[in-house]
Amino acid sequence: MNRVYHPTDIIRPEILELKAYHVPPATGMIKLDAMENPYTLPQNLQHDIAHLAGTAPINRYPDPNAADLKSALRKALGIPESMALMLGNGSDEIIQIIAMATAKPGAVLLSVEPAFVMFRMIATFANLQYVGIPLKKDFSLDIDAMLDAIAEHKPAIIFLAYPNNPTGNLFDKKDILKIIEATPGIVVIDEAYHAFADASMIGELANYPNLLLMRTLSKLGLAGLRLGLIAGRSIWLNEFEKIRLPYNVSVLTQHITQIVLHHMDVLLAQAEQIKTERSRMITQLSAMNGLEIFPSDANFILFRVNNATKIFQMLKDKGILIKNLDSSHTLLDNCLRVTVGTFDENTQFIAALQNLLNDNN
Ligand code: PMP
Repeated sequence: MNRVYHPTDIIRPEILELKAYHVPPATGMIKLDAMENPYTLPQNLQHDIAHLAGTAPINRYPDPNAADLKSALRKALGIPESMALMLGNGSDEIIQIIAMATAKPGAVLLSVEPAFVMFRMIATFANLQYVGIPLKKDFSLDIDAMLDAIAEHKPAIIFLAYPNNPTGNLFDKKDILKIIEATPGIVVIDEAYHAFADASMIGELANYPNLLLMRTLSKLGLAGLRLGLIAGRSIWLNEFEKIRLPYNVSVLTQHITQIVLHHMDVLLAQAEQIKTERSRMITQLSAMNGLEIFPSDANFILFRVNNATKIFQMLKDKGILIKNLDSSHTLLDNCLRVTVGTFDENTQFIAALQNLLNDNN
C-alpha cells in the first residue's frame, strides 16, 4: 500500500519551523566568514601528521575516554588538575550535550542577544525554553536586565561567550561574576576565541561550583578536526558524560591533535600573527568613511556600513566571502563580520571594501 506521509504529523512543530544552519559554498573564494585560522601547519609537522594518519588504527573504535589526548590538552591549555574534562566533536556538540542533560520540562536556557546562534538553535533542538536578553547598544551586558531575567526564569543553564560572537568584545568580568553568583543554575563561559583575547575566566573555576569553561581548537587552526572541550566539576561532567556518545572524537582527531599539541608554540605564533593582522585591519578600517567599527578581542571584526547587504553581495561577486549580519538582530542593523585572514587576504578585502565604499557613498 502506498501511504502518504506528512512530516507535519511526525516532526515536532518547533523543528518544522527551524531553518537549517546555512553554510554558504566557498570554493575558490577568499574565505573570511567562519573564524577559521587561515594558516596551514609547517611542512615538517604536515609530514608527521601524514605518517601518523597512515598508520593510525582506523579499523578500531577510538579510545572512548581519550585519556592521552585529555592529558595533552590539560598541559597545553593549563586546565587545573582539580577540574574534570569532557571532549566533544567540536564545542557545538558539548552545547548540545548540556542542553539535553538540562532539558527538564519548562527548563530555561538563558543567553544574550546577539550571541552565537547555536545557543538558541540547540535550545530548540533539545526542547529547552530559550530566553535571550539584549545586550546594550555598545554590546556590553545589560546586567540589570540579566539579573531580572535570572530572578524571573531561574534558568537551568546560562551560556555566555567570552569574547562574544558576533560582536567580538569581552564582557565585564565583574558583571559575569554577578551573574554566576545570582543564578540558581550552571553557567558555561564559552571561550572559543580565547587565543585572541588577553583574558580568561579559567582562574575562577575553583571559586564557583556552578561555573563551567568551554574551549575549542577550531579557531586555533584545527577546525577540520572538530575538537571542543569543557572543564568543570565532576558533579556536572559525570552527568554530561552519560549523554556523550562513546566514540564522538575520532581516532584521527585524537592522534593528530596530540601531535599538534606538542607544537602548541606554532599555533600560538599563528594566533599572534592574527592579532597583529587584526590591529592592521582595524587601523585601515577606522580610516574609511561611511563605516563604523567595533572593538575586537577575537579573530574577527564587526563593522557597520550604510548598505550591508549590497556591500556583502558586491564583495561576494568579487570572490570575497564575509558574513552578513543585517536583519539577524536589531542591534546588528547593517552590520558585517569579517574574519581576520592572511596578510594578502586582508589586503585584498580592505582594497575591495574601500573601492565599494567610494562607489557607494
Ligand atoms: N562557540 C562560539 C562562541 C562560536 O563562535 C563557535 C563557532 N562559530 C563555536 C562555539 C563552535 O565551535 P566548534 O564547534 O567548531 O568547536
